[in-house]
Amino acid sequence: MNRRIGLLGGTFDPVHYGHLRGALEVRDSLQLDELRLIPSARPPHRDQPGATAAQRLDMVRLAIGEHSGFLVDDCELRRDRPSYTVETLESLRDELGNTVTLFLILGWDAFCGLPGWHRWDELLELANLVVLQRPEQNQDLPEVLKDLLAARSISDPRQADARHGQILCLSQTPLAISATHIRSLVAAGQSPRFLLPDAVLDYIETNGLYRP
Ligand code: ATP
Repeated sequence: MNRRIGLLGGTFDPVHYGHLRGALEVRDSLQLDELRLIPSARPPHRDQPGATAAQRLDMVRLAIGEHSGFLVDDCELRRDRPSYTVETLESLRDELGNTVTLFLILGWDAFCGLPGWHRWDELLELANLVVLQRPEQNQDLPEVLKDLLAARSISDPRQADARHGQILCLSQTPLAISATHIRSLVAAGQSPRFLLPDAVLDYIETNGLYRP
């Protein structure tokens, strides 16, 4: 079977159990060989993050530790310009070749915003999409994405057999955790412990991140 690689991009400011659990469940449902977490450099769609790129990368490395099958890919941080996902996928295709199967993992909120992404309609020519439900999801799906789902979605992970072009919506164990909430807890002097790995929390405390 071709190598199957999952890709979870994000600001990871900081990385938390919502990301990690979602990634692990996708890996298991789709029998992935590898799961890459890809911290974004200068997110084009959102405010600048609270921690530096190097700190966000450190935190993802700490979160993953020795977990086999997970790795951190700093390709977007090595670029000195906005990290458009379509370009990241193109460079991964250059690196990995056309025979690997790529699954780009997006939370529901990110999926709903897809039509605003640079060259978004080319993403499915490069990868499959896996859309994760989020407990607090309240965005409406734009019409264009309803049409796309009607044309491209599969309902069972066992049908995920194409190298690109399919969309699979998966329900992960609902974890209403967000980086925004973690940052606001720290800023308010409260503990975010048990929402993220202890090693990441220790790093946040040691480096005085997210304090007002
Ligand atoms: P912020 O609160 O700063 O916006 P976030 O917690 O949403 O951050 P990101 O780094 O922006 O985290 O998320 C990266 C990806 O992970 C996105 O596709 C997002 O939808 C998804 N994601 C984040 N948290 C969860 C969660 N609790 N459950 C499922 N998916 C999630």
